Amino acid sequence: MYFIDVILPIPLRQAFTYNVNKDEAGFLKPGMRVAVPFGKSKIYTGIVYAIHQNDPPTYETKSIDQILDETPIITATQLKHWEWMANYYMCTLGEVIRAALPSAFLLESETIITLRKDVEFDEGTLNDEEFVVFEALQNQSSLHINDIRNILDRTHVVGVIQNLIEKGVVTVQEELFEQYKPKLKRYLKLKAPFHEEASLRELLDELSRAPKQRNVLMTLFMLSATEKNVESVLLQKKADSTASVIKTLIDKGILEEYYLQKDRMEYTGDAPSEAKGLSPAQQVAFQEIEASFKETDITLLHGVTSSGKTEIYVKLMEEMLETGKQILYILPEIALTTQLISRLQHYFGKKVAVYHSKYSNNERVEVWQQALQQKQKAQIVIGARSALFLPFQNLGFVIVDEEHEPSFKQYNPAPRYHARDTVLVLAQLHKAKVLMGSATPSLESYYNAKDGKYGLVVLKERFGNVLMPEMELVDIRDKLKKKRMSGHFSDRLLEEMEEALQNKEQVILFQNRRGYSPIVECTTCGVSPQCPNCDVSLTYHQHKDQLRCHYCGYSMAMLISCLACGSETLDSKGFGTEQIEEELKELFPNHSVARMDQDTTKGKHAYAKLIERMEDKDIDILVGTQMLAKGLDFRDVSLVGVMNADNLLNFPDFRAHERSFQLLQQVAGRAGRTQKRGKVIIQSYNPYHQILRQVSTNDYEGMYKEQTEERYQFKYPPHYRIIKITVKHRNFSTMDKASKWFAEVLKMPLKEHVLGPVSPPVGRIRNEFITNILVKIPKENSLSRSKGYILKAQQRFLAVKEFSRVKLTVDVDNY
Ligand code: ADP
Ligand code: ZN
Ligand code: ZN
Repeated sequence: MYFIDVILPIPLRQAFTYNVNKDEAGFLKPGMRVAVPFGKSKIYTGIVYAIHQNDPPTYETKSIDQILDETPIITATQLKHWEWMANYYMCTLGEVIRAALPSAFLLESETIITLRKDVEFDEGTLNDEEFVVFEALQNQSSLHINDIRNILDRTHVVGVIQNLIEKGVVTVQEELFEQYKPKLKRYLKLKAPFHEEASLRELLDELSRAPKQRNVLMTLFMLSATEKNVESVLLQKKADSTASVIKTLIDKGILEEYYLQKDRMEYTGDAPSEAKGLSPAQQVAFQEIEASFKETDITLLHGVTSSGKTEIYVKLMEEMLETGKQILYILPEIALTTQLISRLQHYFGKKVAVYHSKYSNNERVEVWQQALQQKQKAQIVIGARSALFLPFQNLGFVIVDEEHEPSFKQYNPAPRYHARDTVLVLAQLHKAKVLMGSATPSLESYYNAKDGKYGLVVLKERFGNVLMPEMELVDIRDKLKKKRMSGHFSDRLLEEMEEALQNKEQVILFQNRRGYSPIVECTTCGVSPQCPNCDVSLTYHQHKDQLRCHYCGYSMAMLISCLACGSETLDSKGFGTEQIEEELKELFPNHSVARMDQDTTKGKHAYAKLIERMEDKDIDILVGTQMLAKGLDFRDVSLVGVMNADNLLNFPDFRAHERSFQLLQQVAGRAGRTQKRGKVIIQSYNPYHQILRQVSTNDYEGMYKEQTEERYQFKYPPHYRIIKITVKHRNFSTMDKASKWFAEVLKMPLKEHVLGPVSPPVGRIRNEFITNILVKIPKENSLSRSKGYILKAQQRFLAVKEFSRVKLTVDVDNY
């Protein structure tokens, strides 16, 4: 008898054993996929983990449905890495696998299959069964695996579907994944009614009193003679006109704007071009990195904003390409912009593959196969955190850009991993070098560098001898007293804005809150409208005149009178991006204002469009949330204004100060990236706050020293490790009892290292009550022993009947 252990993509603690025949046992290898029955009627795709002859004593094995691969799609190194993850982050290997593989690889009974509309294919390539499924999908928009079983009248259908996926006929349904086609250019054309001779002539007559507008039209005709599509930047330049004249023409309904996109997945541009030469300072940093790699495998590059870290990465990648090894460049999702991708494709052409959660399943499967087969096409993979799951065969070099970014951490669902830390382990398995880069390194990484665990290379100079922006702190309280505030703008900010705009430079304004004003409060009784499902106040969104919950998405129409006392005295407190946008439109009616936050970047391509418009100088003032801080490189931004630094500093989190420093420095870094020195104005009620001082003098070292000392006092990383246990239940007293029980059990072995349970600032979300237990483990204590205690407590907890519906999650390094 032969058996295989299969890992199923569900939270099972162990692999599940199936029986196979001798031929199958000979054919199968670890890392291949098999379709297997599970439970009463479920089918899963699982990964073969081991092949052996030991009959499990406790249950009767079933046989597998089908073998899905001819060769493993997962490497031995990947399995090792994922086992480390499961172990370290205290989850199951199945959960890691679910996060790691594109869902097209993991067909299961619940999977929904749909026809692809975006590709053409030759029906002649389908065999009979495939054709039957294809036909069925012409009549029904989607099918479940069980439907397909009925249609084909057989049980083992996963293989057929897998073939259809590979042939590009079907895809598995996923959340709406927008195709990531970022390169959008804005074009202009004459609106349809004016295509008629007569109406056109009339229009030109009419515009004789508006020579500037007329000139734009005449230029458009001239350009149309040679260009099929006329790009708006080109038109503006050739007509020697301005964005506002063009905007007037659009507003009047004379011109129409449209966007065209180039598919960036497949690079079709010019042949790759030479990288730029490094500046002397960059050259020094480059050499120091190379020297550092001779000593250690991990190096931290602390390079100020706009120092040209990307150019250094490019140079290092060029060298690494020669060795034939694979390169992984990971960065936060939101920083994965067209700007960067096209820069890299410019140098490396088709060798660059992009791996991104916004890509469709089929595209991700393609990159997966390329990495597995070590295709040249994907010798460099650039991607967000999920790219670290790719089946690299021969990884030589990893870059972690914007290493400090909080979004490298996945909070939900498990695995609750930190991509930076996880990729370090991956690199170690491959004996690859890692370069982490940031203008504002995380305290942990800097600590490790100081400690000698990582190499450290510092680049203090901006590229092109551009000076770091000049920082000015403005005291809002003082300005209010002296009546020098217009709305949320101080006189200083307004003066600087006017000057910048006059010089045709762009302005970025940062406000850490989206929406119009975070909360609405009754000035009579002091009550704020609350979300019915969560313990938070609702937020006012002016655009739709709605109150919304940022936690669960609940929304209601804005109230006219207070629900508590009935007075019509609801007032908005605080302020968000939307309100600033409104104020700006009043203050600067002749300038174009745009907003970048979660609400304005939801739509298809909305984010890319904003960046494009900014590059085209179609926007004079951009207001936004922290999205602005993510490595954007605009040439003509000379002024950055921080509307209010206080809400950042007062955030209830042990990292609030570090994060504020990072965010403010990064936002400031958007200013003055070319010749002219940029200016940053930070408005605050508390301009003497230590962090603001440190931001304004670029004093990273000072911040680091102070913060690490504070962390030591209050027992936080990097001196202590934290594991957070969260307990949730719909019933408060059950939750309360369960969390106290768990904390008690943990306190027996872990004693004073266990804190809580305490409820978080928002103690109820989506009708579930929440509480947290923190375990703080000193660096010198054994982490794995502490985890062992938690696991044991968890096992006992699961056995308590009363707690069977209580949700318990464990988050290792929860920050
Ligand atoms: P960082 O990532 O450190 O903030 P970037 O890599 O975005 O900085 O570089 C800032 C700007 O300077 C970019 O527009 C980049 O093209 C330019 N730049 C940097 N280094 C060079 C170089 N060696 N030659 C030409 N331009 C450079
Ligand atoms: Zn809510
Ligand atoms: Zn009231």
